[in-house]
Amino acid sequence: MANKVKKIEVERELCIGAASCVGVAPEAFELDEENIAIVKSGWESLDDDTLIAAAQSCPTKAIFLYDEKGEQIYP
Ligand code: SF4
Repeated sequence: MANKVKKIEVERELCIGAASCVGVAPEAFELDEENIAIVKSGWESLDDDTLIAAAQSCPTKAIFLYDEKGEQIYP
């Protein structure tokens, strides 16, 4: 099945640098110099389940996932 997730955004105001997302999907997320998560290039190679699990792991729901129509998948 083709991946539904086509766009990821991290809401910087919400991110507290807990790095749960990095733990679940280190290929997709890393912390920048301000300890805020950023989306790494190459995240597209991960499957939906991993991306959704990473977003769900975020304690502040700072990770937003969108499909190809721009509809929000999560949260
Ligand atoms: S899990 Fe959430 S709060 Fe933690 S670094 Fe990732 S986006 Fe930020």
